[in-house]
Amino acid sequence: MILDGRQTAAQIREEIAAEVSQLKQQGLRPPHLAVVIVGHNPASETYVANKEKACRQVGFDVTRIALEASVTEKELLDVVGRLNDDDSIDGFIVQLPLPEHISEEKVTRAIDYRKDVDGLHPYNVGLTALGQRSVVSATPKGIRELLARYRIPTEGKNVVIIGRSNIVGKPMAMLLMQKPYLQLPKMSASALGNATVTLCHSKTRDLKKICLGADIIIVAAGQPSLLTADMVSDGAVVIDVGINRVEDATQARGYRLVGDVDFSNVAPKCSYITPVPGGVGPMTIASLLQNTLQVYKDRLAVKS
Ligand code: NDP
Repeated sequence: MILDGRQTAAQIREEIAAEVSQLKQQGLRPPHLAVVIVGHNPASETYVANKEKACRQVGFDVTRIALEASVTEKELLDVVGRLNDDDSIDGFIVQLPLPEHISEEKVTRAIDYRKDVDGLHPYNVGLTALGQRSVVSATPKGIRELLARYRIPTEGKNVVIIGRSNIVGKPMAMLLMQKPYLQLPKMSASALGNATVTLCHSKTRDLKKICLGADIIIVAAGQPSLLTADMVSDGAVVIDVGINRVEDATQARGYRLVGDVDFSNVAPKCSYITPVPGGVGPMTIASLLQNTLQVYKDRLAVKS
């Protein structure tokens, strides 16, 4: 069965839009997200445009701050500082990757963790690791939400994650291994988390053997067709995070997007699988909206 991220994300957007319209009826201003983009990376421009569109669809205000690739680190840090201080902005993201002369670590640390809707600030990452309420990194949060809404329990399951990046693999592992603390929609909290997690990477030995022991496999490696049918047990759940461009002369743009899973051969073995596109990607954007609403509400609570 396909885990339809597009449809699930649309449902989440509807829920958020309803909440925003209630807030407006109460005379409150809508949540306001700012998006900082540096340079003209085509993939980043597409991601940012999609995020802006999603914000508008749910009634958020959104402001784009576009800076040339030649911007200095100091100038970017000044922009971050201004956004931290700007009371009309609830949350903001600095779209990654940044040009090489700018330290992503410095920029991420400079963001006020209370406005860090990407959940990448060390403070939020630390809270997530401790199993405490935090702003959770958007992609793992979206995957957890997708599992919850399809009522796929993780408790006691063997979960294999391929990829140990700070934005996907590591926070995903932290979320699924936790004793649950969150009440997620449509599934009791006790059924999420509580998994036995194995985190794999490029130095892992015998990936196939490890994957064959998995109830749930989450692939976030950026390698087309890394997960093949012989690595997947019958009935496994497969979540494909990868977004890879492969040349395709039949497409007007000259490429198509594929994930990290050999979808056509793996899908028949799975109980559930996410497609690419239309799986994890839309859920990531939905999580960004949820995070923005969360920080907005936290800010209002602080003020009242
Ligand atoms: P990174 O490049 O930061 O990390 C990739 C990870 O995969 C690394 O830990 C690497 O190991 C591991 N890896 C690479 N090749 C292999 C291999 N052959 N066997 C085992 N492990 C391997 O990637 P990201 O986490 O940022 O992104 C991963 C993919 O997900 C990309 O395609 C990206 O575009 C996509 N993505 C999609 C999102 C969405 O919303 N759908 C959001 C974010 C990312 P090592 O650490 O040893 O190098």
